[in-house]
Amino acid sequence: MRVSVVGSGYVGTTLAACLADAGHDVTAVDIDPDVVAAINDGHAAIHEPGLDELLAEHAGDRLRATTAYDGVPDADLTFLAVGTPSNSDGSIDLAGLSAAAETVGKAIARASDGATGGTGENDRHLVVIKSTITPGGVATIRDAVRRGAGPVADRVEVATNPEFLREGTAVADFKQPDKVVFGTEATWALDRLEALYEPLLETTDAPVVRTDPETAVTIKYANNAFLASKVSLANDLGNVCKAFGIDAYEVMDAVGLDDRIGARFLRSGVGWGGSCFPKDVDALRAAAREQGYEPAMLDAAVAVNDGQPERMLELLDSHVDVAGDRVAVLGLAFKPGTDDTRNSRAIPVIEGLLERDAAVVGYDPVATETMRERFPDIEYAESAGEAIEGAVGALVVTDWDEFAALDGEFDAMAEPVVIDGRRIVERREGITYEGLTW
Ligand code: NAD
Repeated sequence: MRVSVVGSGYVGTTLAACLADAGHDVTAVDIDPDVVAAINDGHAAIHEPGLDELLAEHAGDRLRATTAYDGVPDADLTFLAVGTPSNSDGSIDLAGLSAAAETVGKAIARASDGATGGTGENDRHLVVIKSTITPGGVATIRDAVRRGAGPVADRVEVATNPEFLREGTAVADFKQPDKVVFGTEATWALDRLEALYEPLLETTDAPVVRTDPETAVTIKYANNAFLASKVSLANDLGNVCKAFGIDAYEVMDAVGLDDRIGARFLRSGVGWGGSCFPKDVDALRAAAREQGYEPAMLDAAVAVNDGQPERMLELLDSHVDVAGDRVAVLGLAFKPGTDDTRNSRAIPVIEGLLERDAAVVGYDPVATETMRERFPDIEYAESAGEAIEGAVGALVVTDWDEFAALDGEFDAMAEPVVIDGRRIVERREGITYEGLTW
């Protein structure tokens, strides 16, 4: 099938590459010419394991990237995978997605002008919202597409197909999803979505959920709200354990043996970050409030999460006064395997250290450049060993494997105080070790 993917970030590039890999003919669209040039060059503008290999294989063949929307009218399906960032009140900013949706509508209208336009089966267009949006946002995007499409608006259907991939394992998650959710009430649109996914679903046991567009996007929010709350509950319990001098990991490992609970997402630490959990939980809270409902559990999940970086800093304070001294922040990405620093817990940790007048040095194997944009004035090291050399404290924020291998490097610290927010460094002789919840 012919597919256009508008928005080529973590989700759009993964989607475009995996669809090309599944045999489809894909055009990736982005407003950023650097992103487009990178894809056409056979690599991604972002760090995502396995993605470069797919791009190198398919770019220039079944996959091309462009800043123009010229592939849209001839596509059997057009995905919208543009970012939906947070507004200051937590609600999502639909401006970029709406603009892209309207441009897609206009491209369809232009090609259909005075003719059938050769625009696919029965001259009907399917625009699929991949971006994460609230149920109320579906009508906004549908209106934007139809406004752009003008006289041919009734030939355009807008469906939703939320994405559950995780950064760091995006390609694997897309190819082996836990579930696929189609949100459309038009039979022909559902048929087209199923045909598109068929080669992908053939190799998985993933169940397909078929529902209406608004329910589909709500499943995505409920999913992330549940996972974020699960980690926050593990963190809340972890803090209680620490207060008693009990190892929260031992407790939660046993709790996770209960199959009503499950073992995953029970690792307590410095909290969740990234571009999805904080944004999605905030968007759902804001949307609920707009409907007159106070989501107390979700508020509490955020409050616990917000408190964890400060708890880490207080543990550091209990061992050393950092004013004027070098402190290393190990890990800047919001989790291992990605260069994404959006809402990384490293941000409040660095801010807290700067408030304490520490000389902050950050290290991350892949996310240094993205963090440098936010904190241009702190120092960045080339290795974890270089970061901790001469430091009076090391705060472990991201569980990159290489931090587990640190050993003799701790000897070069001025004061070997290690505050571990991810249980990745081993407790050992010669360092003052504090686990956040153990
Ligand atoms: P991103 O910020 O990485 O990428 C968005 C891309 O859209 C950028 O490359 C940007 O240049 C491009 N863009 C912006 N306006 C455009 C326009 N008018 N036309 C064409 N391109 C435009 O975003 P992302 O992380 O890929 O997320 C995209 C959506 O998917 C969001 O709604 C997000 O919540 C959702 N989502 C993200 C993840 C994730 O792990 N990142 C997972 C599931 C769902």
